[in-house]
Amino acid sequence: MKYYSLNHNAPKVSFQEAVIQGLATDKGLYFPESITPLKADFFENIENLSNEEIAFAAIQQFVGDEIPAETLKQIIAETLCFDFPTVPVEKDIYALELYHGPTMAFKDVGARFMSRCLGYFNKDKKDNKNTVLVATSGDTGGAVASGFLGVQGVEVVILYPSGKVSDIQERQLTTLGQNIKALEVDGVFDDCQDMVKKAFLDESLAHHNLTSANSINIARWLPQMFYFFFAYKQLKSQNRPLVFSCPSGNFGNICAGIIAKKLGLPIEHFVASTNVNDTVPRFLEKGNYDPKPSKATISNAMDVGNPSNFIRIQEMYNNDLEQFKKDFSSFSYTDEETLEAMQSIYKTDGYIAEPHGAVGYLGLKKELENHPTAIGIFLETAHPIKFLDVVEPALNIQLPIPTQIESVLNKEKISTKIKTYEELKAFLG
Ligand SMILES: *Cc1c(COP(=O)(O)O)cnc(C)c1O
Repeated sequence: MKYYSLNHNAPKVSFQEAVIQGLATDKGLYFPESITPLKADFFENIENLSNEEIAFAAIQQFVGDEIPAETLKQIIAETLCFDFPTVPVEKDIYALELYHGPTMAFKDVGARFMSRCLGYFNKDKKDNKNTVLVATSGDTGGAVASGFLGVQGVEVVILYPSGKVSDIQERQLTTLGQNIKALEVDGVFDDCQDMVKKAFLDESLAHHNLTSANSINIARWLPQMFYFFFAYKQLKSQNRPLVFSCPSGNFGNICAGIIAKKLGLPIEHFVASTNVNDTVPRFLEKGNYDPKPSKATISNAMDVGNPSNFIRIQEMYNNDLEQFKKDFSSFSYTDEETLEAMQSIYKTDGYIAEPHGAVGYLGLKKELENHPTAIGIFLETAHPIKFLDVVEPALNIQLPIPTQIESVLNKEKISTKIKTYEELKAFLG
């Protein structure tokens, strides 16, 4: 499979090159040259397939022969080492819980897949290291730190906005040591992301072989399509149209869902639910794309002012807004509305949603008014414990600490504070 740059001013590359480079030389995001739908009998038979078999069938065309089938199967098995249950919340509404992995965030899937691909591509290189540079608004950092810990030939440098991630999130990305380094940036997420983007284009850093582990990297982004298939497998027997609501920040998840639909997965409608960082909802309403600086919210993993994957979504709809709106809606919610939703979901349904999931739930409820026969699924993208500072007071409960989290709570934070791009460069050396 070849990948082209969405800025159309860089050579086409292989899967391996796209994974290693992250971003194309013209700053564009890579996009697969073709998307071939899976055969009808795959969907007819999906309930008899394991998650690993489903994932292999879904991703194989995007990897091609660049990773041998047996190795790819092994990578998938290591990636999918946990469950993806669809949990009934209320009549016709399910939470697709993506948080049962090692760092209790959906990003475990992409981080584990990408790290193992990179490890495979580096297996024969002796002293030619890759440096993974990643900006996080919250959950990416922990998932990348855990997913890449100890991977041969890969150094990981994580930039996060100081004081704007939760205590648990901060510990997950600052306490592992080994090949994982954390940079605490005096600024907001967009500052971190800007520095990372700048570093990728900086010739003087070429010797680091920098790559990204944000969802701009195809190996981080594409495996996120798996869980839409897993949800379908679980709900298929009900024989109803499916509406998915993704709490969206950089729009990687929902964009992977649209790939799943292109592969033939019968999804009736997508909802991108956002917090007050509402660039996409405004775009759908007004027709002009007008990114704004990000604002801090209680769903901080979605505090993104200029979602990097939106351009991939537009590519899939040939920039045709009317066509796009048939499949896709986007709604934005304030922190106040999010807290109210968390409280009502808990009180009425006995379900504990964290802020991102609650935003997803709100968008889903709204869209389901237009789909009376559908089942709605909102993605629960993180375990409530990751946002305990918000969840506990809002619901007036105390959450038990899961073992995955307990193990980082007593470890010491090690980070380096930086403010400017020059300081990032000096750190990288
Ligand atoms: C990253 C993240 C999101 C946003 O996902 P995108 O793919 O960037 O849209 C939502 N919720 C949580 C908990 C996250 O960590």
